[in-house]
Amino acid sequence: MEFKLKDYNLKDTICAIATFPSKSALGVIKISGKKSLDIVSKIFLPKKKKDIKKAKTYTFHYGWIVDRRDKKEVFVDEVLVSIMRAPFSYTREDVVEISSHGGILVLNKILDLVLKNKARLALPGEFTYRALVNGRINLLEAESILAIVEAKTQGVLDFAVRQLKGEADKKFEGLKSQIKEIFIQTESLINFPEEEIEISLKNIEEKLKEIEKQINVFLKTVKFSDILKEGLRCVICGKANAGKSTLFNRLLKQERVIVSKIPGTTRDVIEETIDIRGVPLKIYDTAGIFEPEDLITKKAIEKTKKTFEEADLVIFVLDGSRPLNKDDFFLWEKVKSKNAILVINKIDLKQRLKLNKFEEKIPKVYLSALKNIGIEELEKRIFKMVYERGLDRENLLFLSNFQKEILKRVKEKIIQAENFLKEGYSIDFVNFSLKECLDELRKLMGEVICEEILESIFSNFCIGK
Ligand code: GDP
Repeated sequence: MEFKLKDYNLKDTICAIATFPSKSALGVIKISGKKSLDIVSKIFLPKKKKDIKKAKTYTFHYGWIVDRRDKKEVFVDEVLVSIMRAPFSYTREDVVEISSHGGILVLNKILDLVLKNKARLALPGEFTYRALVNGRINLLEAESILAIVEAKTQGVLDFAVRQLKGEADKKFEGLKSQIKEIFIQTESLINFPEEEIEISLKNIEEKLKEIEKQINVFLKTVKFSDILKEGLRCVICGKANAGKSTLFNRLLKQERVIVSKIPGTTRDVIEETIDIRGVPLKIYDTAGIFEPEDLITKKAIEKTKKTFEEADLVIFVLDGSRPLNKDDFFLWEKVKSKNAILVINKIDLKQRLKLNKFEEKIPKVYLSALKNIGIEELEKRIFKMVYERGLDRENLLFLSNFQKEILKRVKEKIIQAENFLKEGYSIDFVNFSLKECLDELRKLMGEVICEEILESIFSNFCIGK
């Protein structure tokens, strides 16, 4: 959802349904802002007749939501109201949460009543935005909250929670203090050029190189974290009848694609996400990359090509019961430059496949998709491949696109400083590049409020968070 920061008026009292509106046991409506208690006092009838506006922080109140109109009181739902007074709340403002029953109609009715009493519907992420602006959380924590909400697997959730607990801050703090140290050294060199200062330019250059390496690791980690968050794109390819759909179904552990004996019946790209040992894998069953014979296949083939190009991993299926043919060789040419696993399928049949040309370094798994033999081995392979890409399982880092861009800029500035040193420029140039670096890092960490970052983060949030 597109929005501009100016729409997030901090003076307004905002409200939203915080739970997914569906037929469920409970639903929560959140209100935050100066008028929260006043609003709730108008629509809530506590069992114990007392003034809810005077309620202490962290207290629960049982009663009814009522629609008071034309001197009548219409009962809407039986609820629990919790009060969190400023500054002891998520947004650091007065917050009221109404726990009602989970029906869509009832939640909307309560929301309507809150709106009628002068609250405004919250924009995406607006509660978290207030938490940030009011100093309850920092930018990296905001990003981790987004990752928690979006986590598809336990692995991602664990790391997002760790980021929320401040692990990412430590990383960037470390980076910042290293850059700062060199920056101060360059300041000394500029300010006291005549004095004998024990700072060697060579030493500065080495330190900068070291920092560049660290940033590279960060960028790699961010990329990997995105894969884990979004899912690893994995394409299953192979000639017609090799057993792609059967394998796809096996991996899904359910029969969802129609398996047929007529070659090339999987006409379109089918996508499903599965969880392999904590790695979300988006698998695509493809129509194969062949020259189009008719228009329908042409479209499917184009789609396949695109999916193939974007794939993080390719599972290339060969039919073990048949010798290699031109289709296999054709595909091999496409696959060999990719991160691939070779699957030799149909090992339950008499084997006629001679691998010769495929005997290169590519990992191989022998299996029977139909008889469910060797599937676990394939899963193990996939898992291993994900983590073999030089990636550190202990480190994940979730950043918004804009933060990623900033991190890349920090790296560019470091390289620029290195080059200035190498080419013998005056130390002022190095000093200036490092200053820019520190400014960028401050934006990334949210020490300097930067509109574009905030917009890039909060536009990904859902309403009610
Ligand atoms: P696709 O065109 O590559 O998607 O191939 P399918 O999955 O549609 O399979 C083609 C045919 O091979 C079907 O009749 C499957 O039952 C059969 N098949 C797939 N895997 C195996 C296997 O491991 N063993 C045997 N014997 N047949 C298989």
